Amino acid sequence: MSQTDTTALLASVASLVKTELAPLASAIDQEGVYPAEFLHKLGELGGFSAAIPKEYGGIELGLNTQIDITAAVGRECGSTAFLTWCQSTCAWYLLHAPNETVRRRYLPQVAQGKLLSGTGMSNTVKHLAGIEKIHLTAVREGDDYVVSGSLPWVSNIGTAHLAIVAASVGEEGYIMFAVRGDSEGLSLNPCPEFSGLEGTQTLNMRFKNVRINADDVLAHPDQFKAFISRIKPGFVLGQLGIGFGIIEGSLKTIRESNVTTAHVNIYLDEQENELAANLDSQRKEIAILSSQAENGTARIIDILRARANGSEATLAAAQSALLHAGAKGYLMRHPAQRRLREAIFVAIVTPALKHLRKEIHDLEQQTEMEAA
Ligand SMILES: Cc1cc2nc3c(=O)[nH]c(=O)nc-3n(C[C@H](O)[C@H](O)[C@H](O)COP(=O)(O)OP(=O)(O)OC[C@H]3O[C@@H](n4cnc5c(N)ncnc54)[C@H](O)[C@@H]3O)c2cc1C
Repeated sequence: MSQTDTTALLASVASLVKTELAPLASAIDQEGVYPAEFLHKLGELGGFSAAIPKEYGGIELGLNTQIDITAAVGRECGSTAFLTWCQSTCAWYLLHAPNETVRRRYLPQVAQGKLLSGTGMSNTVKHLAGIEKIHLTAVREGDDYVVSGSLPWVSNIGTAHLAIVAASVGEEGYIMFAVRGDSEGLSLNPCPEFSGLEGTQTLNMRFKNVRINADDVLAHPDQFKAFISRIKPGFVLGQLGIGFGIIEGSLKTIRESNVTTAHVNIYLDEQENELAANLDSQRKEIAILSSQAENGTARIIDILRARANGSEATLAAAQSALLHAGAKGYLMRHPAQRRLREAIFVAIVTPALKHLRKEIHDLEQQTEMEAA
């Protein structure tokens, strides 16, 4: 990996974000505008493929660079940073899929943003953590599967998109597969209005006997356990890019606000220098964890703790920015109130803060029992 390449890429992303995304941020948030054109352009720059080898159409600069790209997007718009995560995470799943056919079929197009793709893995990840029942069930027919059930909210999907989801296959276990939005038997329906993230094209997916060809399967039941362990660290770490971007945007608001009201802002609990130092130390830790996630040596407990710390830091920074900005920041046209809603999303999207604390608690208990 070359530092020059990474710096040049991040500069191009920052410039695209400034000219093409920043002017849309309010419309994305308040009118539910879905930034498809921006996503395609970001894909052309390599904005989803930093962790993908050149062989599959990627730019091979590493997962940490992917997190930096997501952060550069999140500085201006948390919703689009989430979409960047959805797209790059689908590429991450495909890269690590044990089945070469599905990887060759979709990875280059997804990595380059030509085929937009959602990840509907929240239910499965929560199910595996003992939080809820699995919503999709599959019946095996040879190496194909027939899937029914529904997922309440999946972002970055549509009839011309792809989605990557999982289903249970009775006693056999689980499968993970890709499905096109216009597949027979699949219907996509709008969700009730959200208080943020409206421009993420978040839809309800209903499967009624949808046939999944073996060529679209990322992992069959006998491959699933190893596969989910392989992809989970990158899936979870990637979301930190959304939080880092929101923190950077919040720091900007704090600095701007201190130009005129520092004399009273100094009484607030969270000051710019502490928030910035915390961000800096989290980024250093994530750089190490990212390379571990790429070579498959990351410890899941470290990843979960880092993600929980990231959620807390994002909430703290976004709240502090609004407190610094005061009534001005409470105006609908000011980004501080939007960032606070985006920060809350970082803490409720799977794995939510409560989910992370549950998994960390369960792992700690297990370690204690093993030591006893
Ligand atoms: C704007 C937006 C975009 C999203 N985009 C995506 C996406 O792209 N992909 C995706 O996969 N998800 C997406 N999600 C979902 C998200 O990741 C979370 O999973 C979702 O917000 C639900 O989490 P929760 O914390 O509310 O659920 P929780 O409160 O943790 O879980 C509630 C679950 O527990 C069950 N339950 C209730 N009582 C009990 C009980 N006594 N025993 C056992 N179970 C019980 C409930 O039925 C429910 O299923 C999105 C959500 C939002 C708001």
